[in-house]
Amino acid sequence: MPAQAVSRPGTDFAPGLVVSACINWNKPLEPGEPHIRFKAVTVRYGKRTALADFDLTINAGEALALLGPSGSGKTTILRALAGFTPIESGRIILKNADISSKSPQQRGFGIVVQNYAFFPHMSVADNVAFGLRARSVPRAEIQSVVAEYLTLVGMIDYAKCHPHELSGGQQQRIALARALAIRPDVLLMDEPLSALDAPLRREMLNELIRLHRQLPDLTMLFVTHDQSEALALADRVGLLREGRLLALDAPKNLYERPPNRFTAEFLGQTNLLKVEATAHPDGDGLVMVRLDSQTLMVKAPDGWDNRRNACWLCLRPHQVSLKPEGSEGARVNTLDCMVLAHEWKGSHYRVSVEVEGQPLHLEANVGLTPPQAGTRAALFFSPAAAWLLPRESSEGGESSGAGEARKAKEN
Ligand code: ADP
Ligand code: MG
Repeated sequence: MPAQAVSRPGTDFAPGLVVSACINWNKPLEPGEPHIRFKAVTVRYGKRTALADFDLTINAGEALALLGPSGSGKTTILRALAGFTPIESGRIILKNADISSKSPQQRGFGIVVQNYAFFPHMSVADNVAFGLRARSVPRAEIQSVVAEYLTLVGMIDYAKCHPHELSGGQQQRIALARALAIRPDVLLMDEPLSALDAPLRREMLNELIRLHRQLPDLTMLFVTHDQSEALALADRVGLLREGRLLALDAPKNLYERPPNRFTAEFLGQTNLLKVEATAHPDGDGLVMVRLDSQTLMVKAPDGWDNRRNACWLCLRPHQVSLKPEGSEGARVNTLDCMVLAHEWKGSHYRVSVEVEGQPLHLEANVGLTPPQAGTRAALFFSPAAAWLLPRESSEGGESSGAGEARKAKEN
């Protein structure tokens, strides 16, 4: 009979949770060696598939962020790894050992630590020491380890305080120190910053980035629906949708060269224009594409072989500029457009235009007078700034489906 998950989400993983694995099984791994591997893992809750054929390798010392809209299966991945949710098929491998059928205790993704679940009557130092005492670490060693990790998170001066005397951000740091004090080789985090207000979130994010630098052997698996956190912290980001991994790459690659439309739209702002590629790339790797009657040159993705095919032209708003009126210069990728509206954003104007009946947003310099709605203007972009994605025939209609990632992001 297939295994079925019974526990409710949130009972042992919830936003703001820091969970650590304490195992240092066998010999330590070299940075870059596979540490955690999911092989074709499928998890179902009743009839609902929460993870489908999920493959992922997380390397030792890597900070990997799993990013995806709510309900995409992020928490399920952590729960399956820690053993709280049985998998229906596939394997989970931790340092060469198949842990798929081991109990949570055997896997060693020890205590689940709710951020603010401190012992109120104990000092900060004793709270941090708790996991070490539970592991019968000698007293002298406990003292030095506690001091080491309180120093690491910048809280050594607060060792004698009680939790209620600390701010939310300070409590987060203590929670981190406590998770790290047992010297885990993996740190699992499920939306650890989501309960914090914006300035604290930024501060803790910086803290995690710093920890990642200072603890190069620590593998970090970080789950978030917030792309800015994922892009800032992670060495690699995996993008999930409906229990499937849609993209996995370094943040910059994912942003600049998204492998599919969902990724392009989920990460940052993007314009997708319906175009037709008209030829193979030329010697400079440029492809000619048509936007109705207008012809554009676009740098082709590696291995692009999409002759005369429907594509999306993917353009980030900041990569499109308005051509100052009356300016001469190159005509390449210059498009006539109708200005629909503009909005002052402080650092730039967001200008909405229409090109050949398709909507496009661009960012205009605040130093320029923005063009007025209802007037015509010219815009341009560099061939290297644009990115091409294949367009399925089912996507030929209006950009209705284009809102999918946007909607997911807003949730
Ligand atoms: P995320 O963490 O990305 O928001 P989850 O992993 O919590 O997503 O959930 C993935 C899917 O599985 C969702 O559709 C969710 O409703 C469903 N789900 C999660 N846990 C349970 C459960 N215990 N019972 C039934 N459905 C669940
Ligand atoms: Mg979740």
